[in-house]
Amino acid sequence: MIDIHCHILPYVDDGAKHMDEAVQMARIAYEQGIKKIVATPHYIEDGEYLSVRIDKKVERLNYVLKQKKIELEVLVGNEVFITPNLPSLIKSRKINTINQTQYLLIEFPLFSLPNYIENVIFELKLIGIVPIIAHPERYRFISENPNVLIKYIDIGVLCQINSGSIIGDYGKAIMEASLNLIKHDMAHVVASDAHSMKGRSPRLKIAYEKVQKLYGEEKAKELFYVNTRKIVEGKDLNISIPKRIKRKDGVKKLLDIFKLNSKKIQ
Ligand code: FE
Repeated sequence: MIDIHCHILPYVDDGAKHMDEAVQMARIAYEQGIKKIVATPHYIEDGEYLSVRIDKKVERLNYVLKQKKIELEVLVGNEVFITPNLPSLIKSRKINTINQTQYLLIEFPLFSLPNYIENVIFELKLIGIVPIIAHPERYRFISENPNVLIKYIDIGVLCQINSGSIIGDYGKAIMEASLNLIKHDMAHVVASDAHSMKGRSPRLKIAYEKVQKLYGEEKAKELFYVNTRKIVEGKDLNISIPKRIKRKDGVKKLLDIFKLNSKKIQ
């Protein structure tokens, strides 16, 4: 398996606190059957995290893993908080796409929808970048109306679900939202978004088994194996046409549960 969203790189963001923790995370991942991890430290313009040059840090982590005989490769990436300047950050190479491919992992604010999202997506597409929305199931504007994703998917945006969402780590509302997105072909890839060796750790296996049980082997393979590999190799994905979620099928229910649980969300 390949994990395309993981805060494994030490000393750069709120992920691994030190090299030992990064090594432990790699060990956990390896035991899960993960062979490659994309290091995706946060990049927040004008914010706390501006991990501009991470190549050397990734190189160093790979060296340490080799010394420890952990057969896992770490690749370069970023999780970039949306800003109107995204296209220029790409052009000036201030942010890293996933393994230097056309795929860029983008994070949105949890509670509000910036009005410039569509413009930014459009501009990114013009320069050949394929945005991947990190954990859409965690954003309120998507929980309230998951069908809003269809217009983004229609113009070539991909959606990455967190494995923890699928198994209920963020509560029932987010779990149901993630499963609903998978069921309606609005999810393209699953990743751990791990931040440490405990709690949000790089585990994909239980989520894989759940998806396999609910939606079949083929869907699970597509989300955990096929698409992750294509993304790190820079290949195009075969995308199914997303199906609208009918109100009775989740939207209202999700909204109600989300309201009940919104205080729990960080
Ligand atoms: Fe993340």
